[in-house]
Amino acid sequence: MQTSFRNIKGTFDVLPQDYTAAGNQTHGSAAWLFVERRIREVFERFDFREIRTPMFEPTEMIARGVGETSDIVTKEMFAWTKGDTNYVLRPELTAPIMRAYLQHRLDQQGPVQRLSYLGPCFRAERPARGRFRQFHQFGAEIIGSADPRADAEVVAVLMAIYGAFGIENLRLRINTLGTPEERTAYKAALRTFLTPRQEALSDISRERLDKNPLRILDTKLEYEQALLENAPILTDFLGQETRAFFDRVCSYVHDLGIPFVTDPKLVRGLDYYAHTTFELESDALNGALAGAGRYDLLAKDFGNPNPVPAVGFAAGMERLFVVLSDAGYVFPEVSAPDVFLVAIGNEAENWAFRKAQSLRKNDIRVAFDLKGRSMKAQMREADRSRAPLVVIVGDQELVSESVNLKNMAEGTQETIPELDLMHRIKRFSSK
Ligand code: AMP
Repeated sequence: MQTSFRNIKGTFDVLPQDYTAAGNQTHGSAAWLFVERRIREVFERFDFREIRTPMFEPTEMIARGVGETSDIVTKEMFAWTKGDTNYVLRPELTAPIMRAYLQHRLDQQGPVQRLSYLGPCFRAERPARGRFRQFHQFGAEIIGSADPRADAEVVAVLMAIYGAFGIENLRLRINTLGTPEERTAYKAALRTFLTPRQEALSDISRERLDKNPLRILDTKLEYEQALLENAPILTDFLGQETRAFFDRVCSYVHDLGIPFVTDPKLVRGLDYYAHTTFELESDALNGALAGAGRYDLLAKDFGNPNPVPAVGFAAGMERLFVVLSDAGYVFPEVSAPDVFLVAIGNEAENWAFRKAQSLRKNDIRVAFDLKGRSMKAQMREADRSRAPLVVIVGDQELVSESVNLKNMAEGTQETIPELDLMHRIKRFSSK
């Protein structure tokens, strides 16, 4: 079979089964459902409630929320204009969730909202292993609490999710970005240090020097890292309050027995962070598994008169799958139908067609052939379905109102009255 169409680069189909294309292994839908279910179970255990927001949002809101100078907004948005409105496919969910929180006055539903999400995001990045243009994020936000325990809770739920899959050996780095005032002073110092050295910087870093010098600290280039060795460090620009808050976050995370390192060079690409920021990495991947932080000022950027304390994490599903694959994780098998109906002859086919419906009404999972093929072909299909029971019916059985019931595991077959069929299947399935 063939088609002249392909899925768009950087996107992928999830099929009923696993497959590999262009070096990326894509798991089947059953694995996705399983992973999604497990993630949601952990969210429930931590008392998070799921929130779903639209796939597209006003560009202005995303630009304001994520930051005009961020890579996402400057380079990676799938955006378009219709009429006099600018739209963008959501590149992340923190900004949309804060929008929804403010718009729906969720503060009136309780002083602290614990919201979780799982769904597709879109960024026009260069596709690579674990990097897509349509990818999936799961994450959680605690909105309404300025308590450092909220920051630690976000770390805890994130680690519990990886723990639920038995993944350990991850690297958690934590830092504080301080208040905007502290950051402004630091940015100025960093600029003063780097400006006379800008010849030695990459083009990208030179561009960032003016608009967002903090991002230069993110560099993966060794010669830039060496240059930054003697640069001023953010920690020296933090006031007493910021340090005390950060110490409390660290000590709460420590109390939970979660290993981490503090890293004063950790800054994150998104502008809305203040105070705590953290990132989770694995040896299996170049990019991060998850990023997180506190973003108390986002609400004000969205027009709320006051800041709303908030902290959350966002993690990539595809990257979780990479780590799971590398660890040789075995996903549960796709569950099979309870019974497969094999019918030979027109009358029997019609009987099977109607029988399937009545069995299904009684919560029995039924599969049957839709091609009118030979008994042999149908038996092959029954085998492939992995149904433990197969019902075989021909015209003769219809006359005697009986059916042949085959137990596939044992290879035994018996003829039973048609009237007993439902009961027999139910009895077998409940064993
Ligand atoms: P960010 O909002 O950029 O911190 O992203 C949070 C997480 O989403 C990252 O740590 C990745 O796991 C995942 N992620 C971000 N961008 C992509 C992408 N293009 N493809 C796959 N996963 C991504």
